[in-house]
Amino acid sequence: MISATPFHGKTVLVFGLARSGLKAVEGLVAGGAMVLAADDRPEALKLAAGLGAKPVDWRKQDFKGLAAVVLSPGVPLTHPKPHGVVDKARKAKVEIIGDTEVFARTLQAHTLAPQIIGITGTNGKSTTTSLLGHVLARCGRDAQVGGNIGTGVMGLRPPKANTSYVLELSSYQLDLMHQHKLSAAVLLNITPDHLDRHGRMEHYVAAKARIFRNQGPGDLAVIGVDDAYGQEICTDLVAQNGRTIVPVSVKRVLNRGVYVVNGMLYDAMAGRPERVVDLRSAPALLGAHNWQNAAVAYAVARGLGHASRTIAKALLSFQGLAHRMEVLPEIEGVRFVNDSKATNLDAARQALSALDPIFWIAGGQAKGDDFTEIADILPRVRTAYLIGRDGAKIAEAIKAHTQVQVLETMAEAVRAAFADAKAAIAPLSSAPTVLLSPACASFDQYRDFEHRGDDFRAQVAALTNSQTEVAQG
Ligand code: ADP
Repeated sequence: MISATPFHGKTVLVFGLARSGLKAVEGLVAGGAMVLAADDRPEALKLAAGLGAKPVDWRKQDFKGLAAVVLSPGVPLTHPKPHGVVDKARKAKVEIIGDTEVFARTLQAHTLAPQIIGITGTNGKSTTTSLLGHVLARCGRDAQVGGNIGTGVMGLRPPKANTSYVLELSSYQLDLMHQHKLSAAVLLNITPDHLDRHGRMEHYVAAKARIFRNQGPGDLAVIGVDDAYGQEICTDLVAQNGRTIVPVSVKRVLNRGVYVVNGMLYDAMAGRPERVVDLRSAPALLGAHNWQNAAVAYAVARGLGHASRTIAKALLSFQGLAHRMEVLPEIEGVRFVNDSKATNLDAARQALSALDPIFWIAGGQAKGDDFTEIADILPRVRTAYLIGRDGAKIAEAIKAHTQVQVLETMAEAVRAAFADAKAAIAPLSSAPTVLLSPACASFDQYRDFEHRGDDFRAQVAALTNSQTEVAQG
């Protein structure tokens, strides 16, 4: 745990006592702050009290004299409308920050000056964060991974001389960060998502671009330039000068930067391009979207001074994350890929582009995407099995381009997809894949995307059990 020393002797209100909020309470208490804790759930208040905070009712609490309100990133700051606690803090002119800001202020003031690396983007944050953590560990750093992924940042270990903190930062967290100055900041990509919480696209883009704030000479900015937003932000940063900027593309050759062509990663950071590694031989980096994640991780590690051969080897030994293009054991010549984390159409497009032929399971709570936009890749899909609240609507949108079946449950979808995939094996050259890449949120049928992916895995496992029963019977 990290002691938030900059808040020593100050009074801070922590609002929202889920995992990261409770870690913030612990860190602030350890740093010598007087911590008030608020949450609508009484059991969360009890936990905070156990950690040394004073539970309060924020509605009755006088905000005068507070040094800061530490807000959970899940609490609306602006859209659809500011939470009451936000209004109250603004009226009292109390600063509103996140746990990641507490973290940044604490470690930027630390004598060991550890590296702090932040990663944001619409898709690929978790994968890139854990991939970079793996790469830096292989390069000999004490790499600690946290933020939106895994541990709340204040729960990470205090720095050693060679510590690199690798943080996944959502746009909500970036909205709550002001004084951060990241040793390396990464923007992977930007596509419309979460507009319900951010209102307009401009605000979402601005929130993402905040990751580069306060950087100066010696700091590193790595930017995916395959979408117009990233390209524009990159151009703006170049105009500002002052930090090292590395553009990354998996769509085109760059004069300067890091790019991938047909799976081959090229380093042109110093101008002259050098072939580094063939990512097609990286088992956990399936698809061009993962090449983007790999290229970005490479650019950061290389930009921080590590040897390109060591980084390349580390990319190949990455194990991957569950629910993101997670390859399950093959059954009777059929491959199964669990990409439950693909909760929007852009993420699912990446998965669909990486495989052929596909028996595609999708559906759930759609996020307003126009499914006709993927007409160009639907020829790879033999049949789409659509489940959940918006399954029928999606089927309607794509039925002109591929076969569709509207089903109720994951179990039905897995069974139908497996039967069709098996029947399609003989005349095809490459193994057919049953792919769960829902392009939708999961909350209509599941607790979260992990729960959905676990169900997919369980239904796939059930196929083998029923096969064994048939064989034994
Ligand atoms: P995040 O943390 O940003 O949500 P994840 O790494 O968890 O991202 O991946 C989420 C989904 O997005 C996965 O289903 C994956 O297939 C897809 N994805 C991963 N990397 C990228 C990328 N660079 N571009 C687009 N989609 C991606």
